[in-house]
Amino acid sequence: MLIVQKYGGTSVGNIERIKAVAERIVRTVKEGNKVVVVVSAMAGETDKLISLAHQASSNPSEREMDLLLSSGERVTTALLAMAVEELGHKAIALTGWQAGIITDAVHTKAKIEKITGERVTKALNEGYVVVIAGFQGITEGEGEITTLGRGGSDLSAVAIASAVNADLCEIYTDVDGVYTTNPNIVPEARKLDKISYEEMFELASLGAEVLQTRSVEFAMKYEVPVVVRSSFNNNPGTLVTKEDKDMEKVVVTGVAYDKNQAKLTVVSVPDKPGIAAKLFKKIADANIVVDMIVQNVSSDGQATDISFTVPKTDSKKALELTEEIAKELGAKGVNLRDDIAKISIIGVGMRTHSGVAAQMFETLANHKINIMAISTSEIKVSCLIGAKYTELAVRVLHDSFKLSEG
Ligand code: ADP
Ligand code: ASP
Ligand code: MG
Repeated sequence: MLIVQKYGGTSVGNIERIKAVAERIVRTVKEGNKVVVVVSAMAGETDKLISLAHQASSNPSEREMDLLLSSGERVTTALLAMAVEELGHKAIALTGWQAGIITDAVHTKAKIEKITGERVTKALNEGYVVVIAGFQGITEGEGEITTLGRGGSDLSAVAIASAVNADLCEIYTDVDGVYTTNPNIVPEARKLDKISYEEMFELASLGAEVLQTRSVEFAMKYEVPVVVRSSFNNNPGTLVTKEDKDMEKVVVTGVAYDKNQAKLTVVSVPDKPGIAAKLFKKIADANIVVDMIVQNVSSDGQATDISFTVPKTDSKKALELTEEIAKELGAKGVNLRDDIAKISIIGVGMRTHSGVAAQMFETLANHKINIMAISTSEIKVSCLIGAKYTELAVRVLHDSFKLSEG
């Protein structure tokens, strides 16, 4: 088999861990497989580099940020290739650009456009273990170094697996699979043997960082078989795959939470056509992604409040823009709250079962957790609540939908 193995930050967090990973790789090769490895930076390294950048400048340029951050993954590739060689097997470390990962030019959140993987294929055919730096690529014209957004090594792995037509893409991390919710918060969480791409996509985009959202989107589009496993043991992991009949029988598959959002409220804006359009156009033009939106009905037909959520990292910029537009529109003012969290339940079974949202609201109400906003899709329900209730809400919802029972 041709296998792509991706190792996350904790899995390569120190030299002992890197040596353990090298042993796993050599074992996989000895079992008769060809192996391409994708690595993250050592645990904490990317955060450390970001912090240095902010010490050097109050507004670091995104181009230089990419150059800086891409260095973390380079360190791990070289060390891991050395550790594999030490075990007596041929290995070659490649940067993202040496592996032909071509991206667009949107620094810090570049998209992969194509992978020209001849060098990878050639090295594999010559019997090398190929160790590629995740999270990074290069633009075609200018040859600028780019990065793919936080957690982006998952995307590198899935995209490379698709490019080399791998039989399997294994994502090695610090938990032994995808659970019904974050097992570090709910010890009773249950490991799933398999999960559909669609549910995994929702879980990831609603806050479960076990797989990066875009990597799941890519895997779904190109039907890359992905397995999430632990690099600390040999337990079978979770297969992320196409939906099958059994999956619809389960109403709720998982609970996710996201504390990285902030809520803006425009107070007392005139209730007339065109107001929302003006406001959200301005926010969108600044490349800020708006998630939940609530507009109250005005009791007197004169004025109303509009609340919406944005990523915390964009909240300052969003506040400035909203204050400008609020003034133009004659609103009373703008409030910003970042002590909020979004709690979501996810499951393809929701398509065919009713009463799921009601059960969610009731469970939260029974624990005196107030809901500030709601959004739904075919396979998920999300509620905005106070951040201090996050863990409680996750636990009681997990319990209410009997997720530890399977
Ligand atoms: P890596 O550094 O290997 O990429 P991450 O920290 O990005 O690892 O992702 C693994 C973490 O995801 C786990 O340690 C766990 O805290 C978190 N997590 C959140 N939700 C889930 C879930 N439903 N199942 C498993 N892990 C989850
Ligand atoms: N090192 C990068 C990050 O911390 C990419 C990754 O780990 O996937 O976000
Ligand atoms: Mg990750």
